[in-house]
Amino acid sequence: MEEALALEEAQGRLLALAPVLPDETIPAEAALGRYLAEDLHAARTQPPADLSAMDGYALCGPGPWLRIGESRAGVPYAGVLTHGECVRISTGGHLPTGADRVLLQEDAVVAGDVVSTSELPPAGRHVRPRGFDFTAGTLLIARGTLMTPARIALAIAGGRATLLAARPARVAILDTGDELASDPANCAPHQIPASNGAMLAAMLAPLGCEVMRLGPVGDDHDKLAAALAKAEGADILITSGGASVGDHDLVQAALGRWGAQIAFWRVAIKPGKPMMVATRASPTGIQLVVGLPGNPVSCFVTAFLFALPLVRASMGARAPLPERHAFVAGEDLPAVGKRREFLRAVRKPDGARLVGSQDSSALAALASADCLIDRAAGSPPLAAGSALSGFILHNG
Ligand code: AMP
Ligand code: MG
Repeated sequence: MEEALALEEAQGRLLALAPVLPDETIPAEAALGRYLAEDLHAARTQPPADLSAMDGYALCGPGPWLRIGESRAGVPYAGVLTHGECVRISTGGHLPTGADRVLLQEDAVVAGDVVSTSELPPAGRHVRPRGFDFTAGTLLIARGTLMTPARIALAIAGGRATLLAARPARVAILDTGDELASDPANCAPHQIPASNGAMLAAMLAPLGCEVMRLGPVGDDHDKLAAALAKAEGADILITSGGASVGDHDLVQAALGRWGAQIAFWRVAIKPGKPMMVATRASPTGIQLVVGLPGNPVSCFVTAFLFALPLVRASMGARAPLPERHAFVAGEDLPAVGKRREFLRAVRKPDGARLVGSQDSSALAALASADCLIDRAAGSPPLAAGSALSGFILHNG
């Protein structure tokens, strides 16, 4: 049997195969979760003029000052200030020509039209100079960056109504197994509800890709062939179950008949060893197949480490792999066997603690975890308080 690949080797080989999706122009407003397919430069300068950061008076020279008008946000004072003059100004109001500082409203002594103060604010005080946030032409957001709410706001502030992003990946999900019931509320004693398909779809949802559900499908050549025929338009196909070498593990054979060729399979991780990657030449390009194990925890971990990064890479992510975090062990941890382990854990004030069961089918334990701890193959037992690393699954 060919040796299982190391995680990074397998991830590298998979990401190198990621389909390159064409770019499309989308409203900046609708870009949440997408990856920028261009270097986005500012089309304007922000702020467009020197602005007041506070409510008060824009001053020219030493006081007292004669109040000659007002400048508020959206309605600038059109005239010019000379020594001894001021205008009332509100936050975001343009500093009139000639004004060099702002006196806070609460520091002003006002008698009719005359404003004075006990202490002259230094020049430039409470002024946001033109262009201090960014100037026209500045690179605001680099290609391959994830669009977050703040980056959407920045693109819009930079004068962009639309931006370029790869079109969303079309991802087909096919979960397989004779024991799977599609209706969890109507599940015979010899069945289990098919939960992997919904889990995978939910993991993909934040990426904004188009998800097609093709399962659950029984362990039957014809049924698998019929389901695979519906994956023709998919950029990426994710299968779950039937990936091992048992009598009823038919996925690899079915994929072969569909025209897919195995690129590699088996990764030296626990859970998730039987993970498989295949490619298929379709009329519209190369389709990628990621074959995940059926056990729900193995399915989750391999989706997290492989399928999601593949989708992110195809949608143009510069950093498609999950971000690594440092943890502290909240309890003593046992030695690790021959395979690198991804332990399900929950972060507590004193460190990460393993959830109830580390069995690859233990869905209740998985659902209570909020992080994965990455432990190298052959690691000795580890004492509570030791440094660890891994991945955050979610907060809260
Ligand atoms: P397999 O990889 O097909 O050998 O499946 C391994 C284990 O995962 C079996 O106990 C299956 O019942 C279970 N399993 C497979 N697919 C699913 C699914 N879609 N939802 C829940 N459990 C599954
Ligand atoms: Mg099965």
